[in-house]
Amino acid sequence: MKLVDIHAHLEHARFEKDLDSVIERFKKAGGEFIIESGVNPATNRVALEIAEKYDVVKVSFGLYPIDALAKEVEAGESEGFLREIAPKGVHQGGARTSSRPPAQMASAEADRVGKFDVDEELAWIEENADKCVAIGEIGLDYNSYSRPARNSVPSELGTSPEVPDSSGKMREKQKEVFRKVLKLAKKIDKPVVIHSRKAEEDAIDILEELKMKAVIMHCFNGKKSLIKRGVDNGWFFSVPPVIARLEHFKMLVEMVPLEQLLTETDAPYLSPVAGERNESANVVVTIGEIAKIKGLGEDEVAEQIFNNVKNLFNL
Ligand SMILES: [Zn+2]
Repeated sequence: MKLVDIHAHLEHARFEKDLDSVIERFKKAGGEFIIESGVNPATNRVALEIAEKYDVVKVSFGLYPIDALAKEVEAGESEGFLREIAPKGVHQGGARTSSRPPAQMASAEADRVGKFDVDEELAWIEENADKCVAIGEIGLDYNSYSRPARNSVPSELGTSPEVPDSSGKMREKQKEVFRKVLKLAKKIDKPVVIHSRKAEEDAIDILEELKMKAVIMHCFNGKKSLIKRGVDNGWFFSVPPVIARLEHFKMLVEMVPLEQLLTETDAPYLSPVAGERNESANVVVTIGEIAKIKGLGEDEVAEQIFNNVKNLFNL
């Protein structure tokens, strides 16, 4: 069975000790490609190094919406904007508590991600365009602006404290950065991997406004009418192994034709087993769930998704 993981964070500290074996297990399971996703300047560069080291790993350069605003956080323009601080990671981590006051946390967060200039990073991505197969992850994330609804998203996505954005300024800034990155993706002709959390409709509006064609909605939590909009636009939806324990993704797989489905892990997040580190070999779990829902054989599902990936990313 040919397996593909179109979205993983192998540069995460949780893979520091055993990345070789993680890749080996993926290959043994039939793994063909992993698309390693950067989320900011530091991780984009590490992602590139990982892709150069392992033949199955391709790279996607990204600007995670929250990381892209690190400068505003530092400048105190964010009304206390912050997100959960993972121990050593570079992406949103599981829920952690801290006794530090919000302002101090926000500033520590900006330091950890590193303040950077969005335009400079976009210029770097453009210079290195031939080294990546996609732009992502990018998108919009309003999760930190309101209290997360119970059971609406898996805990691995992190829960953030409520932060006021009464003027909507941070939302507007996120949209501004999102439009810029999308325009670059169009210019260099690369598919885009979209993160949208509590911002699904705004993300779709902007993608439609810019007439984006090669679009992958990653770990999409939006409602049925929004899934339908994506399907009608010919976009792709990539499904994480957490589908094994979340009805939402089963419903999504029912709605989306197999020709528009992809498999991902978002490793180390979104594991099929609560609390466990996720890894690329777990895409078999997603394949199994899709096969059950579509009433097809696992090989047939894997083959179609492999072809979807090859065509979409030009591999
Ligand atoms: Zn991700």
